[in-house]
Parts: sequence; C-alpha cells; structure tokens
Amino acid sequence: ALMITDDCINCDVCEPECPNDAISMGAEFYQIDPHKCTECVGHFDEPTCAVLCPVACIPLNPAWRETREELQAKFERLTAEK
Ligand code: SF4
Repeated sequence: ALMITDDCINCDVCEPECPNDAISMGAEFYQIDPHKCTECVGHFDEPTCAVLCPVACIPLNPAWRETREELQAKFERLTAEK
C-alpha cells in the first residue's frame, strides 16, 4: 500500500482519482486506507495518486509492503465485494 505523508497540502487532487476509494481526509491531511490500496494494481500501470500529487508526498508505506501477487489478490477481493 501507499501512504500520504505530512507534506500533504490538502489540494484534493488525489482523492477523486483513486479507483479503490482508498483516500479520504484525515485529521490534518489526506490518508490512504491500506486495506483498500492496491497501488493501482488491477487498474493502472502506475499508482495514480502518486503520479498526480503536486508535492510528491505519496511513497510506499513501509509498514505495508506487498508483492504484486498480493496486490492483485487484494484487487480481486475488493472487486468481488462490489
Ligand atoms: Fe495531499 Fe498530494 Fe493528495 Fe494533494 S495529491 S491531497 S498534496 S496527497
């Protein structure tokens, strides 16, 4: 999963673009739900939020390292729930 750091300027660009609805406003800045983030695996070649973020504050979450296979499985699980 990806994460949003406290460099976030709350510009609102990433939230509507997340295909997994994993991004929401947190207490002080935007946050990513790691249970929903597939790093855009299943949707796009690159993580959309990280590409769009004007201040490049969306790195990989070091506490949530996943393989491409695990991300693909998460995508399929989330899609089945819809
Ligand atoms: Fe914050 Fe970047 Fe998202 Fe803008 S695009 S709300 S700066 S994380």
